[in-house]
Amino acid sequence: MARREDDNFDSGSDAHVARERAAARELRTSRWWQSLIQNAMCQYCGVALDAKTATMDHVLPVSRGGRSTKGNVVPSCKPCNTAKRDQSIL
Ligand SMILES: [Zn+2]
Repeated sequence: MARREDDNFDSGSDAHVARERAAARELRTSRWWQSLIQNAMCQYCGVALDAKTATMDHVLPVSRGGRSTKGNVVPSCKPCNTAKRDQSIL
């Protein structure tokens, strides 16, 4: 019987989550993110955000294999980020 391809797949594993959460902390302090959130909009509800109110949302959640990369994070207000949790769409 064929071995299931995803048996050894790292995504969603504790190691993956720990690594990407750490990467997100670093990305949050990056010049790229800090300038992005100076004058941003929540990607889900459109509310205006600034450096104090913006949160970093993973489009594909880390818990589902998403990475902490520029292509996978968007500014989001806290209520939307909390409501979204580990879904990839709101
Ligand atoms: Zn929002």
